[in-house]
Amino acid sequence: MRIILLGPPGSGKGTQAQRLVERYGIVQLSTGDMLRAAVAAETPVGLKAKDIMASGSLVPDEIVVGIISDRIDQPDAANGFILDGFPRTVRQAEELDELLAQKHMELDAVVELRVNESVLLQRIETRAAETRARGETVRADDTPEVLITRLAAYRAQTEPLIHYYSDRRKLLTVDGMMSIEEVSREIIRILSALEAVDNQAAKKAPNSRRSSPKPARSAARGAKTAAKRGPKRSRGKPKKAAKSARKAGKRPAKRPKKPARASRRPPKKVTKKRAKA
Ligand code: AMP
Repeated sequence: MRIILLGPPGSGKGTQAQRLVERYGIVQLSTGDMLRAAVAAETPVGLKAKDIMASGSLVPDEIVVGIISDRIDQPDAANGFILDGFPRTVRQAEELDELLAQKHMELDAVVELRVNESVLLQRIETRAAETRARGETVRADDTPEVLITRLAAYRAQTEPLIHYYSDRRKLLTVDGMMSIEEVSREIIRILSALEAVDNQAAKKAPNSRRSSPKPARSAARGAKTAAKRGPKRSRGKPKKAAKSARKAGKRPAKRPKKPARASRRPPKKVTKKRAKA
């Protein structure tokens, strides 16, 4: 399983990624964590990234693409991975497409955690307080001032990826305003449904597109779930696999519940005034 988690800072990508790691036995590849490690180790990459990260801006594409390319080649990523914080620009997404094509790998889904911006400041402050309580160093960019820049970077450079992946019929949107548990359940539900559809298609055409076997546990679960509901692809025609699964005699899968009302509204912007309030 190869997944991208997409969402603004504080949307819960890291937390959800950790849960998916346990569930699917795959690795979490967080470019933020890797860059922070590079900064701490004062590597050449770390030295270049340090000030950019502290300001809340994005590190140049070529740096992060290089990091991810090397990381995907590691043996522990062979069974699958969750990209957390990457890609963050359309160029990174295009480069990722190329990388995966070269490695004969396919992306399974892009899960967008949709949240109302008004809660992000509180979440970032809570994260900083919890880090402090554990006696650890708080991230230099987990401050109200830097959050404004990080959100601006998200809106300008990362949000276009929603259309990028929606156009490629990879996007699955989850309401990130729900509790951590509920968000996890929802992500697992839609991924299971997606797997079930793909497994049915693979059974019909054994030489289908998949390059790695599916974990048996989730596939079995997915088959049950998919009978009731299908994954929500945000836009575009149904996936080929879904079409062939339907041709094979399955009922059209129902779409999952829409995100809660709050998440369908345009998110409120965090302004300097609001951030300091
Ligand atoms: P994160 O931990 O994902 O919030 O990332 C922290 C910071 O690391 C970001 O604000 C950026 O400065 C940098 N960063 C992480 N991932 C990327 C990326 N894919 N592209 C550019 N900069 C990144």
